[in-house]
Amino acid sequence: MPRPPKRRVIAVANQKGGVGKTTSVVNLAVALALHGNRVMVIDLDPQGNASTGLGVEHGAGTPSVYEGLVDGIPVEQIAQRVEGIPSLQCIPATIDLAGAEVELVNVVAREGRLQKMIDGFSGELDYVLIDCPPSLGLLTVNALVAAAEVLVPIQCEYYALEGLGQLLRNIELVKAHLNSRLRVSTILLTMYDKRTKLADQVEQEVRGHFSELVLDSVVPRSVRLSEAPGYGQSIMTYDPGSRGATSYFEAAEEIARRGAKLSRRQQTNKGGN
Ligand code: ADP
Ligand code: MG
Repeated sequence: MPRPPKRRVIAVANQKGGVGKTTSVVNLAVALALHGNRVMVIDLDPQGNASTGLGVEHGAGTPSVYEGLVDGIPVEQIAQRVEGIPSLQCIPATIDLAGAEVELVNVVAREGRLQKMIDGFSGELDYVLIDCPPSLGLLTVNALVAAAEVLVPIQCEYYALEGLGQLLRNIELVKAHLNSRLRVSTILLTMYDKRTKLADQVEQEVRGHFSELVLDSVVPRSVRLSEAPGYGQSIMTYDPGSRGATSYFEAAEEIARRGAKLSRRQQTNKGGN
């Protein structure tokens, strides 16, 4: 897997709950880290599922992303190492984060708090993956301001595309007013059940609509994937030979390759000007 020439900050967003945001963040982060990338996961969902999935302490009172956003505590003091995966760190979310959406309203530059927090971290990182909550509120806006890329997981199920228009409009709004670099770089199809016609229909529709943004690799519906977080593990460590693990490895590889291609293109464009 090629390492990116500079830090890639990717918000994993979809305001629908249960589409595989957290599962994708955890497993892509581990896959990228196991291939030599330095990765930081930021858990931005008060439910703290990404913290649980990575086996990171996030009980009440644990220094967390809340202190980073609201009190301006530096990343060094809130990030934790993920056990067993040397180049992976996680900034956990505790239940305190549930109040942040309201508390941030009266804070200066409230949409840019996460960006400031990340930019203030001088440690070497190849990827920052932000696990967004299932809403389009201030926390998600903070993620969209901090990131240059959005990865949208889409569940291959009924109503998969419902609400997607609203997400895309919000991304355009943030792009127009707060973060001109922002773009949807990646769409990942999740919970694909090959026995159903529906999954295939959703896949065709999404590929027809978003063409090259959609990763070739599709994550299958798999019980192993849903069991792993119960052990504080990713699928890579829980069941490395499973189809779920392979699919996330391939997705991570595609993300890495596409990033490398993109930065080459940007360099070429610069050279031509
Ligand atoms: P979100 O973060 O978007 O709410 P999650 O990643 O938490 O979604 O996934 C929702 C639920 O579905 C979780 O219980 C998770 O373990 C399960 N899940 C996620 N991806 C898969 C999959 N590919 N196959 C089976 N279960 C999955
Ligand atoms: Mg989640």
